[in-house]
Amino acid sequence: ARVSPDATSSLVCGYCSTGCSLDVHLRGGLAVNLSPSASYPVNRGMACPKGWEALAVLDAPDRATIPLLRGSDGRRCPVDWPTAVGEMARRVKAIQRAHGPESVAFLGTGQITTEELALLGSVAKFGMGMVHGDGNTRQCMATAAVAYKQCFGFDAPPYSYRDLEESDCLVFVGSNPCIAHPILWERVMRNRRDPDLIVIDPRRTETAAQSNLHVPIRPKADLDLLYGLAHLFIQEGSIDRTFIDAHTAGFDAFAAFVERFTPPYVAGRTGLDIRKILDLADRIRRRDRVSFWWTMGVNQSHQGVRTAQAIIALALMTGNIGRPGTGANSITGQCNAMGSRLFSNTSSLLGGRDFSNRDHRAEVARILDIPEDRIPAHAGRTYDQILDGIRNGSIRGLWVVATNPAHSWIDRGGLADVLGRLDLLVVQDIYHSTETAGLADILLPAAAWGEKEGTFINSERRIGLLRKVRRAPGQALADFQIFRLVAEAYGCGPMFAGWRTPSDVFQLLKRLSAGRPCDITGIADERMVGEAGGIQWPCPTGLDDPGAERRLFADGCFYHDDGHARFVFGEPTAMPEEPDESYPLLLITGRGCASQWHTLTRTGKSSILRKLAPREPHAELHPDDATDRGIAPGDWVEIASRRGSTRARALLTQGVGRGRVFLPMHDAGTNLLTFPAFDPHSRQPAYKAAAVRIRPA
Ligand code: SF4
Repeated sequence: ARVSPDATSSLVCGYCSTGCSLDVHLRGGLAVNLSPSASYPVNRGMACPKGWEALAVLDAPDRATIPLLRGSDGRRCPVDWPTAVGEMARRVKAIQRAHGPESVAFLGTGQITTEELALLGSVAKFGMGMVHGDGNTRQCMATAAVAYKQCFGFDAPPYSYRDLEESDCLVFVGSNPCIAHPILWERVMRNRRDPDLIVIDPRRTETAAQSNLHVPIRPKADLDLLYGLAHLFIQEGSIDRTFIDAHTAGFDAFAAFVERFTPPYVAGRTGLDIRKILDLADRIRRRDRVSFWWTMGVNQSHQGVRTAQAIIALALMTGNIGRPGTGANSITGQCNAMGSRLFSNTSSLLGGRDFSNRDHRAEVARILDIPEDRIPAHAGRTYDQILDGIRNGSIRGLWVVATNPAHSWIDRGGLADVLGRLDLLVVQDIYHSTETAGLADILLPAAAWGEKEGTFINSERRIGLLRKVRRAPGQALADFQIFRLVAEAYGCGPMFAGWRTPSDVFQLLKRLSAGRPCDITGIADERMVGEAGGIQWPCPTGLDDPGAERRLFADGCFYHDDGHARFVFGEPTAMPEEPDESYPLLLITGRGCASQWHTLTRTGKSSILRKLAPREPHAELHPDDATDRGIAPGDWVEIASRRGSTRARALLTQGVGRGRVFLPMHDAGTNLLTFPAFDPHSRQPAYKAAAVRIRPA
């Protein structure tokens, strides 16, 4: 029977970093259905299929509803919460006593609220003595964070979504917003300035198909191309010397470095026609407001940080920053990747501080009223290094929160065995059915989006509100409550006596942000966030105009001590695994459709979203490569790398380019093939290049 709602509550979507608001319609205080919020400044009445189906996936039969504990016979049995967290605390302590506090680590996520991230990172590091902790944001945003920090002095995406509508020329590098961030693409479609839409991508993506200029670059040659553009701008005098002199440092060395990136040289490196390179440069040069946008094609690369910094360099040298419609703009991945970057207490100390900075440690200790020696003096190991630690026996216990590495990690083939070496694996998730949850010794059932409260921070630095509109099933608890239970069981609960509710922690986050670039002390509380339709940081003094969208660096002042942005650059390096005689094709990976999210853990539960996605795994292949191998459209094929193999239906398209295969990231087989290379500066995995072969299955 249809149920008529009697109230409505607005909350930010829990999938991607766009941060749309959804109006959830309630009956008796509980969710009945939803529609996109019409007045929210981000989405203005729009949502992608994932948002429309956000409630449907919460009723799945495989929701985790009761804690599970693996017994000595290997079977997992339901237990109550005190038993589960008591056993977790007892075993963590036993491992730490035997092997040192550093022998237990945690892996978090960009999917939980900022308040939960701060509590997890603080309980684990300050309370339980862990040193090593990371998040699945390592897989998506670590590169952008490092690039911004080195160039701007702080991890600060400079833009506002309005820039999508106010730009004369939008350059998307390794970015496919049509399906990855559909509502942002809708904002592009609202641009009335007759903009040039340029896509630099090896593949003719959905976005490339709608562009004015697609630049089908050889995979992983984007750094050469960007340096080539810088060379051309300098040669032609198409640079903003006034801005460079007043607001940047290091330009002369950069100019000398890019001197050899001439059009013929770059054409050879990128596989592009020289005329295409000149056309690209010309389109950028002749427009007043140019904005550069990047996502995973840049971030998930063996030279991602330098590539992102080359994009930043182009924006700086042409004065395309701090003005409407401009910027070097990383679009974040997950709904709270930005909250994770600032407050997860993993790579950086709370508030974007440095663990290695003694003043920063003292400041955090004072604000939180904890002993300074509880704060580690270094950031600890990254995700890949934690896994290496499990392999070599230095990490013996792992607490995984709301992420699924046994599906999503690069070269995941042996990962279940690696996790099997642990003395203790605790997994905290909303479903008991993920590949990683199935391996857990202790499974902690968590409440999902819509079943708890807190805040997220989206790509344009907008803090948005998450509200509770459903009861969590069974005994599942909000992650926030679980972290508090674990702290109590471990014996560090008193340290977090002031962290009783998400609202308490929001007030702590304000204090941690004070005087920092991400200062939010002007936000009274979460109610103000909800009433304003989200609030972008920084917000140190309140809101004069609640509806205003704000970009950074309008004053040309950056966050380094001298106020100047930096040109940071380095020599392009070879792809870690090139195709060869045995594995002659190059595998590239990416988002497959707008209706599915990452490892399908949630979106795979919706019958509507499943209908909107391909029913079977598919591999995009050039028709000539297919003919050479006797492959017809729709055939089952086997794709193999040196690490594993998978099967998919052949989808023949010229858009993928000769010598390449494209596999969606969502399919479980894709990461059996990927090559475990990492950017040396960000330790982000390079998912998008591996040598493979393909044949009829
Ligand atoms: Fe949610 Fe992102 Fe879709 Fe908006 S675009 S509804 S935030 S998944």
